[in-house]
Amino acid sequence: MKTEAPGNPTLNPPPNFIRAIVAEDVKNGKNDGKVITRFPPEPNGYLHIGHAKSICLNFGLAQEFKGRCNLRFDDTNPSKEEQEYVDSIMEDVRWLGFDWGEHLYYASDYFDMLYEFAEDLIKKGRAFVCDLTFEQMREYRGTLTEPGKESPFRNRTADENLDLFRRMRAGEFPDGTKTLRAKIDMSSGNVNMRDPVMYRIKHEEHHRSGNKWCIYPMYDFTHGESDSIEGITHSICTMEYEDHRPLYDWYLDELGIYHPRQYEFARLNISHTVLSKRRLLKLVTEKYVSGWSDPRMPTLAGMRRRGYTPEAIRRFCELIGVGKKDSLVDMGMLEFCVREDLNKRAPRVMGVLRPLKVVIDNYPAGQGELLDAINNPEYPDAGSRKIPFSREIYIEREDFMEDPPKQFYRLTPGREVRLRYAYFIKCESVVKDPATGEVTEVHCTYDPATRGGDAPDGRKVKATLHWVSAAHALKAEVRLYESFFTKANPNEIEDGKEFTDYINPESLVVLKSCMVEPSLAEAQPGSRYQFERMGYFCADIADSKPGAPVFNRIVTLKDDWVKFQKGGK
Ligand code: ATP
Ligand code: MG
Repeated sequence: MKTEAPGNPTLNPPPNFIRAIVAEDVKNGKNDGKVITRFPPEPNGYLHIGHAKSICLNFGLAQEFKGRCNLRFDDTNPSKEEQEYVDSIMEDVRWLGFDWGEHLYYASDYFDMLYEFAEDLIKKGRAFVCDLTFEQMREYRGTLTEPGKESPFRNRTADENLDLFRRMRAGEFPDGTKTLRAKIDMSSGNVNMRDPVMYRIKHEEHHRSGNKWCIYPMYDFTHGESDSIEGITHSICTMEYEDHRPLYDWYLDELGIYHPRQYEFARLNISHTVLSKRRLLKLVTEKYVSGWSDPRMPTLAGMRRRGYTPEAIRRFCELIGVGKKDSLVDMGMLEFCVREDLNKRAPRVMGVLRPLKVVIDNYPAGQGELLDAINNPEYPDAGSRKIPFSREIYIEREDFMEDPPKQFYRLTPGREVRLRYAYFIKCESVVKDPATGEVTEVHCTYDPATRGGDAPDGRKVKATLHWVSAAHALKAEVRLYESFFTKANPNEIEDGKEFTDYINPESLVVLKSCMVEPSLAEAQPGSRYQFERMGYFCADIADSKPGAPVFNRIVTLKDDWVKFQKGGK
């Protein structure tokens, strides 16, 4: 069996506003013409297709401008972070085709430096220790329309603050009793500038720093400083951080350290799925799916297991572009990219998902032959193979109808159709289960003159069916997937509902008795095929074994998404 054709490894970044800014900076020799970006995931979940957009943008810019992109784990919250997530994130970034080289960093490695920065701000009178509880702080913060109130602890002296902060670090105070806050402006129109918290007390073990710390820096206090420490030139993040940019700038300016620029772009939202890590975690912990790599998950691990290629995902990220406006991209677009890639790459085989036996009465019993089949017409190097043919075969149950409607061109009593790579067959009679009336066997005759699939007398048939020889076929399990949510945007939740109420009950259908051609006995876990007429399939990386294959349907051949959306399924 031929393996997959190679994918197109080249990135072809399309123009976008961030790329234009970077190109202009390089042209003007800003930052000595260097481009250093970073991808900063928090290790509190697996990466999803939204992260792929950010990865392609950050690593893509670094490649294009011969700079570099750091992988930085933004691990400032000990309660939600785990090594499993760190490992999966590295695996997924590599799988997508990107490499951070030696530039792997952890925000937790900067805890000492961040602590020094915090003391520096205290000494400058720019930070204070506050005894308000989180609830009180919320009351003091004000609203979008009303200014906040200053904390009664705001005017502590620098010495007092320094002493208290050191004692916070030493573990003298319980969780939630004190925070370190920046002293900015409680009447600022931007709520983020109203004396934001820099450090909170958490007597919790951290997945890397262990029990060294019981105070942990907040995201806003960590992010800009980490960018500064690493010499990032363009700090690219999603739009929700636009309102945090003044704070990002404030910290760096007050500290007087190297000051990268932050740029924001719109998050990717994709139809019929959710991308919030909180929601994805719920799907995993409450067992709506088998895990983070369930083939229905929008995670990179799920897509990999389903059989999506990194090339298709990168192509998708090119097509969607980078802008500032939020939008909901149709899942069909991602599937289009997957199909486009697999069409060129995946070898074609025959597999029958819902088998119906066909007996060719005039084909000699006990005899068989090998027929030539092309592995991939889109990729001639893939060559051809031999497939066995014999008197009894399986066809797709849906390819036969005893009493068909007008538009049905496939097999029906009295009609002739082509068996792909084999012969013309004509249906002569059927055998039914007397109890149910269900057709259990179709009897046909074949025309030996049509070997290879063409009639020398030029007569035509309207349908070509895939099939497998019953005596040679290999039994396989096939898992069919549909969109995980029935609602285009499951984040728009109606009153009294939860996003999980929109889960599609038919998102997974398991077929245990499929019949596939014998060459698939060698299918290696992770290998992809086009089952002629039925879609693209991937041997499951966890459950498929040589000789006992399990296939995931990656995507159908045609776009039936549109039909699905119209509720016509
Ligand atoms: P969530 O809000 O679901 O928890 P997050 O943004 O907090 O996600 P991070 O791990 O912090 O997740 O994300 C790492 C990087 O990936 C960030 O720079 C973030 O902006 C980017 N990112 C996350 N989700 C998306 C998305 N849907 N589209 C584009 N970029 C994203
Ligand atoms: Mg985040």
